[in-house]
Amino acid sequence: MSEILQAATVAPEENPLLKAWQTPHQTPPFAEILPEHFIPAFEQAFVDHAAEITAISHDPAVPDFANTITALERSGRLLAKVSAVFYDLVSAHSNPAILEIDKEVSLRMARHWNPIMMNAVLFGRIALLHDNRASLDLTTEQVRLLERTHTRFRRAGAGLSEDAKKRMAEINERLAHLGTTFSHHLLGDEQGWSLELSEDDHAGLPDTFIAAAKAAAEERGMAGKAVVTLSRSTVEQLLKSADKRELREKVFKAFTARGDNGNDNDNNAIIVEILALREESAKIMGFPTYAAYRLEDSMAKTPEAVRGLLERVWKPARERALADRDELQALIAEEGDNFALAPWDWRYYAEKLRQAKANFDDAAIKPYLVLDHMIEAAFDCARRLFGITFTERSDIPVWHPDVRVWEVKDAAGQHKALFYGDYFARTSKRSGAWMTSLRDQQKLDGEVAPLILNVCNFAKGADGQPSLLSPDDARTLFHEFGHGLHGMLSNVTYPSLSGTSVFTDFVELPSQLYEHWQERPEVLQKFARHYQTGEPLPEDLLQRFLAARKFNQGFATIEFVSSALLDLEFHTQPAEASRDVRAFERAEMEKIGMPQEIVLRHRPQQFAHIFSGDHYAAGYYSYMWSEVMDADAFGAFEEAGDIFDPTVAKRLHDDIYSSGGSVDPEAAYIAFRGREPEPDALLHRRGLLETPKAA
Ligand SMILES: [Zn+2]
Repeated sequence: MSEILQAATVAPEENPLLKAWQTPHQTPPFAEILPEHFIPAFEQAFVDHAAEITAISHDPAVPDFANTITALERSGRLLAKVSAVFYDLVSAHSNPAILEIDKEVSLRMARHWNPIMMNAVLFGRIALLHDNRASLDLTTEQVRLLERTHTRFRRAGAGLSEDAKKRMAEINERLAHLGTTFSHHLLGDEQGWSLELSEDDHAGLPDTFIAAAKAAAEERGMAGKAVVTLSRSTVEQLLKSADKRELREKVFKAFTARGDNGNDNDNNAIIVEILALREESAKIMGFPTYAAYRLEDSMAKTPEAVRGLLERVWKPARERALADRDELQALIAEEGDNFALAPWDWRYYAEKLRQAKANFDDAAIKPYLVLDHMIEAAFDCARRLFGITFTERSDIPVWHPDVRVWEVKDAAGQHKALFYGDYFARTSKRSGAWMTSLRDQQKLDGEVAPLILNVCNFAKGADGQPSLLSPDDARTLFHEFGHGLHGMLSNVTYPSLSGTSVFTDFVELPSQLYEHWQERPEVLQKFARHYQTGEPLPEDLLQRFLAARKFNQGFATIEFVSSALLDLEFHTQPAEASRDVRAFERAEMEKIGMPQEIVLRHRPQQFAHIFSGDHYAAGYYSYMWSEVMDADAFGAFEEAGDIFDPTVAKRLHDDIYSSGGSVDPEAAYIAFRGREPEPDALLHRRGLLETPKAA
């Protein structure tokens, strides 16, 4: 153990994590918080929390809602406070000391939570209340909280026999190990492969790609050369633009063989064991399949509902993809070649077709997408929809000088939240973009205003120029801001129901829905202005940009839906059926009529979403489930004839953005829309409803 972990020598009264924060809005005093403060703070938080749990489970009084459920909601405050600051730093601004503490903390966190979630006495109290819930005279939110709490403990195995609990603990430990091994194998195959580019390989590749390939070579001690690696963004860029067909083929084959090379990093046996253990655990919990167990606690509820949605989308997407394939094949012939379109050709010819047809290139629109203006656009849409305003504050402590903070006020001018924006890439930040919170909204013991974060990885502008976004970046900005609104507008009593504490297949609704405003002409015309001249985005470019969005959607949909269907099959068929993972994959693809020119977005041996942990196991469909709702939900504004229609916006606020987990999501959606979501809006948005063009 390192010195930092041993040095629990900071006196508690000097540890800023253990003191009340004397900052504006009691925000974390980042400048005072040092790595050595975390372990002693976590230790104190674990002790406090364990004592609170013991007090609840050993309470001699007859269990009631207040002494059990509300008491649980009040427990663990210090742990939540320390964890929020710690995990913000782990993700957004880490260093070797923080990462080492993270390893230690994740171990201790599991050791702390396991006995709580398996506590039979505590669960007995919760179950008793749950059985009698109809006679307890509870509010709707309290009923929901009781149900969620009961479900959480039950699904963790709190109600099992001691033997079953023991077996579940063994299974979980083994699954955690297998999940980590799966990702290490994948990383191993990715890091173990690189390809040096010769001069004639460069044909077609953009300058930025070559520059990155040179940087990658330098990192590997091959200065002056250029190498390709197996990250998804690198591979997709290469497949889109490399003129040399053999190069595309070589890289494509290496990419789709990750974890399936029969070497030390092979994931096939890992998958077989994971599926068998998941099946066993589902049976212990009383479910016929793992998918049935997972989906019980989701909006979709059953494997049949998921399959129904995926098959509905599959058919028109496949027809569109087959028509697109014929068009790409014709393009190959037009260029005087006679080979059959292969999977490594699709992106290349699709990009050629897109440029020819839509006459649109992402680079053309970038000068109009200035980061600061797009932030203003996101704020302005929120003001018009929900009446909230944003004022920048310079007196709030932050974890890095690039972080900006805004105070959010409601229409009456009352303080609502603080919003932290941390937009630029840096080495101390992990990749991707996310929303999280430093404190959640609740009003159990008086109003607590939330502290909400958006963290992105946009490139800073060079030489004092403003940061310019790609269309994808601008979409990401609105996406994360939509999650942010879900946290900022939250208006619930109990902390565990706050903001984004909703099902995985519902949580992307507020974020994906918000993307719709970003790509509306009304918004772009106002906020997309050239960074040098201030000129608004030309109408013609705007139209071509919007048209390009629907391009190649058959392919993108097929890639996704085939992976989601395979995920579902792995977790609904007996584990025995997939003992030969490759054969299972082949058979399933044949069954659904997968076009030969397209491969799964994630082949099983690379499907980290479902095998490197269980978060998306039998849950990869969630993205599309949310997309059905967001497309359908935006339709309510289109039908009203105004994308800021005040009546629809008020319902959206009350039923979706402010209700957190306090209501059943299906009921919330129906309250907003007046009916269940219909997938047609999604098919339309992806351009899959129009008749495929003749080849
Ligand atoms: Zn999201």
